Amino acid sequence: MKELEYFGKYFPGTRQELISAVKKSLGRSRFEHVLRVEKAAIKLAELNDVSIEKASIAALTHDYAKERSDSEFKETIKEYSLDPDLLNWGNFIWHGVVGAKIVSNELKITDREILNAIVRHTVGAPEMTKLDQIIYVADFVEDGRDFPDAQIARSLAYADLKAAVSFETKHTLQYLMSSNKTIYPTAILTYNAWVAGQ
Ligand code: GDP
Ligand code: FE
Ligand code: FE
Repeated sequence: MKELEYFGKYFPGTRQELISAVKKSLGRSRFEHVLRVEKAAIKLAELNDVSIEKASIAALTHDYAKERSDSEFKETIKEYSLDPDLLNWGNFIWHGVVGAKIVSNELKITDREILNAIVRHTVGAPEMTKLDQIIYVADFVEDGRDFPDAQIARSLAYADLKAAVSFETKHTLQYLMSSNKTIYPTAILTYNAWVAGQ
């Protein structure tokens, strides 16, 4: 494949430079996950007429902050006066919602659409742009995912992006409930908007 070049000035450097920065922030297996998410996101962007460059940047950075300490996330929430309720949650919600701030600070990415896709990648949102949907779905269907329904999710993703958002949302909520996990309120709003009939 010809090297994907960045022209849009969404990131002040080349794709290889972004990949190096991400590699430094993550352990090997998560870094490899991120590369697979980028591959899926580029494919979904091509199928859905979304900027491949934005899809690449959002995918490469979606889990950029995931290995930061709880104390760094708490400091960031306070420093930027983010919703204080965030302090009641944990890494699973912080790495997207608060992680977008860390991405914007450290990697000098300011494009709101890219940052929103990072914010929304874990629990979604009632309204999601095509880029949001692509990152949310690519994270779920990347080639390394091998949970029982992964193949169904993958086929759906490449046939019908919105249907894949709905499938993933239902699947994630079912999993969380079956293991008695706390559901982040936005995840319920996503379920109501994307899965529930009335
Ligand atoms: P990853 O960062 O590539 O592992 O994927 P995600 O960002 O989509 O998910 C991170 C983790 O958050 C996964 O283990 C999910 O199961 C979990 N998660 C997603 N939504 C919720 C929620 O509402 N509540 C809880 N407790 N966990 C959630
Ligand atoms: Fe994540
Ligand atoms: Fe991920």
